[in-house]
Amino acid sequence: MATESALLERCESKCELCSATSPLQPFVVAPHTQITVDHAVMLCETCKTQIENPEATDPNHWRCLNDSMWSQTPAVQVVAWRQLKRLSESETWAHDLLDMMYLEDETKTWAEIGMDDDADKPLDVNGVELKKGDDVTIIKDLPIKGSSQVIKQGTVVRNINVSADDAKHIQGKVNGQAMYVIAEYCRKK
Ligand SMILES: [Zn+2]
Repeated sequence: MATESALLERCESKCELCSATSPLQPFVVAPHTQITVDHAVMLCETCKTQIENPEATDPNHWRCLNDSMWSQTPAVQVVAWRQLKRLSESETWAHDLLDMMYLEDETKTWAEIGMDDDADKPLDVNGVELKKGDDVTIIKDLPIKGSSQVIKQGTVVRNINVSADDAKHIQGKVNGQAMYVIAEYCRKK
């Protein structure tokens, strides 16, 4: 898997939060759902388990954020920021680190969106909510299910529709044909 090897190269085979060299797994940073180099971080079992089960958090483990919060990788910054935010409710040191942390506006928006647990809205590649009537640009060539055709990168889909039951897809017409497209492969115009 090309994505995973690119991630392993970036993290130098160390957990991107605590530097552990135990087996690593890619972790997709919400609200994104696809493992890509930009939207995933490589984590050890300990970090991953504690992020997924906040009630099992050992605050002392997260002292590692003291170093990893300075990562140059936005996805790592987002995970570090969210962990510090959770911990800052009970840990003064986490609160202090959070105060010192600096995020670019775009990264901050990403970090905050994921904290909402608001997973029932379709979000584009930048985490911007997509609404009925929006125009979007397709960001990569997408094969059309059940045919040999592709939707070309750069295709504009106008006046999309969204469904409350399906936050992963938007609906729209491409070349006059109605179809579903994964929201994360769109960019709002
Ligand atoms: Zn770790």
